[in-house]
Amino acid sequence: MTLSELYTRLFAHFGPQHWWPADTPFEVVVGAVLTQNTAWRNVERAIANLKAHEALSPEAIVRAPLEELARWIRPSGFFRQKAQRLQAVAAFVLDRGGMEALRAQAHADLPAARRAWLAIRGVGPETADSILLYAFSAPIFVIDAYTKRILSRLALAPAEIPYEKLQARFHAALPRVAQLFNEYHALFVALGKTHCRPRPRCEGCPLTEACPHFMSSQKPRGERCAPSA
Ligand code: SF4
Repeated sequence: MTLSELYTRLFAHFGPQHWWPADTPFEVVVGAVLTQNTAWRNVERAIANLKAHEALSPEAIVRAPLEELARWIRPSGFFRQKAQRLQAVAAFVLDRGGMEALRAQAHADLPAARRAWLAIRGVGPETADSILLYAFSAPIFVIDAYTKRILSRLALAPAEIPYEKLQARFHAALPRVAQLFNEYHALFVALGKTHCRPRPRCEGCPLTEACPHFMSSQKPRGERCAPSA
């Protein structure tokens, strides 16, 4: 199965995912930082707190006392560290002339834009690429733990493949279109949450016929997939 065929199967099964769930591009930036090492429902609570305190703007985040900011985002975990990261990211946005200027840079010179985001302390490849793709619609593929787990079980990539190497495969295999990358990543999340969980629930998964992990689980002494909840 090619990466293109995989997309077609996932889209046929799950349909459009309408990601990223955010009201503004800057909310995407905040969500991309807060979602590090935590579930999205915790991010939603932290973002709701920021909204309640009218603190969901770069200016408000830079101005907020660090302890107060940390308290607002506490539901997202690692809140002191993330408060510092949010202030660093918000200061970067202001320093670079705001979100529109950063959007323009992402479309004019994507590699340079990516390097600039990666230079911010606490912003790694997944966070930077999520911002570039979902806040600015720049055509860059986001690799996350779901992507790696699913591709490894499908024998389409080794489990320990480096981030940029796997990303390059998507860029080589697919048209460089932000909307496609957006949808594809969201479909990996959908599959990873419903079926291809840490302990897979293969029943009902649209990929069973093409999945070596599933096939091996059907052998008498192989690993068994957990029944669906
Ligand atoms: S068949 Fe099972 S292991 Fe394979 S992709 Fe689907 S859920 Fe994951």
